[in-house]
Order: sequence, then C-alpha cells, then structure tokens
Amino acid sequence: MNNPDTQTPELSIVIPVYNERNNLIPLEDKLETELAKLNLSYEIIFIDDGSSDGSAHLIAEMEKHNPRIRLIQFGHNHGQSAAFAAGFKAARGKIFVTLDADLQNNPADIPLLLEMMRDYDVVCGWRHKRNDPWIKKVSSRIGNAVRNKLSEEEIADTGCSLKAFRRECFENVKLFKGMHRFFPTLMKMEGFRVTQVKVSHHPRLHGESKYNIRNRLFSSFQDLLAIRWMKKRRINYDIIRED
Ligand code: UDP
Ligand code: MG
Repeated sequence: MNNPDTQTPELSIVIPVYNERNNLIPLEDKLETELAKLNLSYEIIFIDDGSSDGSAHLIAEMEKHNPRIRLIQFGHNHGQSAAFAAGFKAARGKIFVTLDADLQNNPADIPLLLEMMRDYDVVCGWRHKRNDPWIKKVSSRIGNAVRNKLSEEEIADTGCSLKAFRRECFENVKLFKGMHRFFPTLMKMEGFRVTQVKVSHHPRLHGESKYNIRNRLFSSFQDLLAIRWMKKRRINYDIIRED
C-alpha cells in the first residue's frame, strides 16, 4: 500500500464478496485489463462478507502482489448493504464504481458508465438481456414493476450492482440493511442527477447466487414500504426570508 497511486485515486472499485473464491482471480484479471485502458488511478476494494470458502484468504494473497487491491474482511455475513457501506467508508476515490464479484457484470462496461458520469452523479447499469434462470428474471421483472409503482420511480433494474457514484453521494445518507436496492431513489432524494444505461450481463460460472424469492421477497417489500414512506415524508421547505 505504499504506492502513491493508491492514496487518492480517481476511482474506487467496490466489490462485495460472499463465497466467490473461484471468481476472484478471473475478476481481478478482467478488471486490471479494462482499467489499464482508462489511464486513471484506481483502487479495488473487496469486502469479504463473512465467506467460508477461503475468499478472504485469497484476496489477502492477491493484495500482496497487487498494491491496488484492498481487503476489508467481516467476521460474519452482514449482507450486501453492509458490505457496500464498509467499502464506501474506506474508499478514497472521487468516483465509486460498484459491481458483483461473480463476473456477471462485465468490467468492460465501466468506461461506458464513466463516460456518462460527465453529466450525472449516479449511473445505474441496466441488465437488459439478463443471463439468469427464468424464475429469477420473472421475479425480478415483477419486483422492479412493483417497486417503481409504489416508490414512483422509473429505474428498470435496481438489482444491477454495476453502478457509478460520485463520492459525495454517500456523504449524507445513512444506509440500512437492504438499501442497496434503492440507491438510485435515495440519491434522487438527495438531489443528485441519476440515470441508467444498458450493460451486458453474463451467466454465473462459479459459485451460487445468494438470493432467491424466499429470502428476497418479504424483506425487500418491507424495505420498499420504508423507502416509500421516506419519500413521502421527506422534509421539504422553501425559505423566503432568513435574518
Ligand atoms: N453478496 C454479499 N453478501 C451477501 C450476499 C451477496 O456480499 O450476503 C455479494 C455476492 O458475493 C455478489 C453480490 O453480492 O458479489 C451479488 O450477489 P449474487 O450474485 O448472489 O446475487 P444475484 O446476482 O444472484 O442477484
Ligand atoms: Mg450475481
């Protein structure tokens, strides 16, 4: 970590990891190849969310050879929002790019997001051709429709982790469990300019998905009601005089 490049990099790549050991080396290779083309300084923060498959050990090894890699290791599994929160807190970059560790998101799409960051504060990936089992695609389509309706939102694919944020976006928001699905809405509430862009999506080659209808439906519906409430009850006023 003595590389001056890593002190205040342009980009912080923030990646939650929960039992993704077999994806980590190919992910690092792909990230390094794509990021090298950008000619920007960057750090790659892996947040190990209590993996039991040796992911953290492997990241610690990768860190020894690659000064841009940083490991944050949780003692237990705390969930993806907690992993993002810890990653953002540690991140030093001006722009945060988030993605999954499983190579379903393609690091080759990062330049596209950065291009759009010229005009926006948040750019959300949209997996328009999703490579997941049909049950996941259908449930996610219904989930996105319900979420958009109830939260008066128009984000096609909030579950896509591939997103870019200006670091200021997280300066004033308090994160809660499950909130990673609502980052675009939270950011809009904070007054940031949010957009979405179509990105590629690939089948998961190693490891298993951590989410299914059972462990997602009830909790994400509760989270949606909380977001809806926050949006409706947001304090809003106009000052016409202040002495
Ligand atoms: N993940 C995590 N903690 C969890 C669940 C998932 O850090 O409790 C990570 C996981 O390793 C992956 C990303 O979050 O990098 C998204 O999870 P997954 O790919 O299982 O979700 P899916 O793409 O199937 O919706
Ligand atoms: Mg995935």
